[in-house]
Amino acid sequence: MWDVIVIGSGISGLGAAAALARQGRRVLVLEQHSVAGGLTQTFTREDWTFATGVHYIGGVGDIAGSSGQIGRILAWLTDGALRFVSCGNPYDIVRLPGIEFGILYPKERYREALLARFPAQHEAIGRWFAACEAALHSAFARFAMCGMPQWLAWGMHLIHGDEVEHWAQRTLASTLAAVPDPQLRAVLGARWGDYGAPPDSAPMLEHALVTGSYNAGAYYPVGGPTRIGHTLVPVVEASGGEVQLGAAVEHILVTGGHVAGVAFSQGGTRRTEHASHVISAMGIANTVSCLDAATAPAWQETLRGLRPGLAHLALYVGLDGDIAAAGASGANVWIYESEDIGRVWHNVEEDDPPGLFVSFPSMKDRTWTGKPTAEVIALCDARAFAPWLDTADGRRSEQYLELKGRIEKRLLARFCRHFPALAPLIRFHELSTPLTQQRYLRSPGGAMYGLEMTAARLTHLVIHKSTVPETMLDSKVAGRGLLTMRISRLLSDFQHEDPKRRGSMGGRRI
Ligand SMILES: Cc1cc2nc3c(=O)[nH]c(=O)nc-3n(C[C@H](O)[C@H](O)[C@H](O)COP(=O)(O)OP(=O)(O)OC[C@H]3O[C@@H](n4cnc5c(N)ncnc54)[C@H](O)[C@@H]3O)c2cc1C
Repeated sequence: MWDVIVIGSGISGLGAAAALARQGRRVLVLEQHSVAGGLTQTFTREDWTFATGVHYIGGVGDIAGSSGQIGRILAWLTDGALRFVSCGNPYDIVRLPGIEFGILYPKERYREALLARFPAQHEAIGRWFAACEAALHSAFARFAMCGMPQWLAWGMHLIHGDEVEHWAQRTLASTLAAVPDPQLRAVLGARWGDYGAPPDSAPMLEHALVTGSYNAGAYYPVGGPTRIGHTLVPVVEASGGEVQLGAAVEHILVTGGHVAGVAFSQGGTRRTEHASHVISAMGIANTVSCLDAATAPAWQETLRGLRPGLAHLALYVGLDGDIAAAGASGANVWIYESEDIGRVWHNVEEDDPPGLFVSFPSMKDRTWTGKPTAEVIALCDARAFAPWLDTADGRRSEQYLELKGRIEKRLLARFCRHFPALAPLIRFHELSTPLTQQRYLRSPGGAMYGLEMTAARLTHLVIHKSTVPETMLDSKVAGRGLLTMRISRLLSDFQHEDPKRRGSMGGRRI
């Protein structure tokens, strides 16, 4: 009997497990892949090591005050073993036809740079920053509601509920519509790839939250993203816990309305493990697929109505030589072929990507000892990959390989066109597709960030049902804070629970 079972070893699962381990709990983490870390994992090909899902992180590093909270939590979890280094300033560069604009921190410097570049847009820039500030404020209110006791969330909802609703429903496109200059509009909206929803559907709340997370700087883990798993796993183990790999959870066991454990397959054997608490950090769609139809059927039904978001194609490029001299830096480069930055790459078979994100991880991590790398990402519609997404041998079919080869060539050509001095230094390249995301992370539909990021996702009452009394909910709070809420509740449950009684208390509601 474990104190808690955590499903999934990404940053969410390992973070939850390490936090509980820090409270003296024995936690079992089950990971379906043969490597721990989820999107924080890296992989190596010949002389090059590539990161899969971390290019820059906000709120970590040496930041004082509330903006540095995440960094302090990670320092507490890892005893300071996980360290971060600044990606530099600017940390993002937007490249459009006829303009290259560096995004700086803190936001006052960003604002000044915008005013200097677009002096006639003084008012529009002022309105934009005011909107970002208000939307960010509403995002914090929403997350705070997720983590606080119900009665307090109820009060906060009375004060901030409308504001949260407003900024979740308002799209990035509608906020940008108040900006007359098309070039400025493009610069302000360029970074929607950070959360994967194009401006037409992107909630302003999400845009402000994600881009605002870099207001105090952007950071990269020293030693690479893989250090996240390497520093969290020992914390889990030190408290008697385990991280088991190749353990694919198939079923969350529920008895009499209470969670009792999980059933999973490992090395061809079906096994079960028991615990009165189970945290699922494998995504909400995967969680639903592991529940019996009789468990919370209405809840399941509503969640099934939420669709996976956009997918992505990633070109991993291995280089040799002085890439800094050839134009690479610690800043990510957002490249668009026109000022219409909201276009989605639907027809991956025929069209070129409307936008690219380029990152040079080896330029961010100054402890990097391997050869330099570049990672080129384009968000896309996964439809072209649908024939192979759910097939066991899809990755080997001739048509898939042909399509993949064609796309790889096109992305490489685009990269070389934008970084001509880097082209002669290229020694290796490999493309990942939505099938990669599905295979290594079990991401439904090969989606990049899980569920589609829409106002519905942020305000869906079933996602956050237990935050505020149902009568108050009329879809006002929701989203990724679910996990934060669950963990904080779990910790407070444990704190108020008599350890001697724990064994006989039976399961808890999931
Ligand atoms: C290309 C890309 C670039 C990104 N860049 C950034 C960035 O620069 N900055 C940033 O902050 N964020 C970035 N993100 C987002 C960030 O990586 C993710 O939000 C975060 O890592 C998600 O963590 P997670 O633990 O929730 O999920 P994951 O990391 O996906 O972990 C889920 C884990 O659950 C496991 N799992 C699934 N099903 C089962 C099962 N049945 N049984 C057992 N285990 C299971 C999976 O194998 C996986 O290990 C990026 C994402 C992508 C895809």
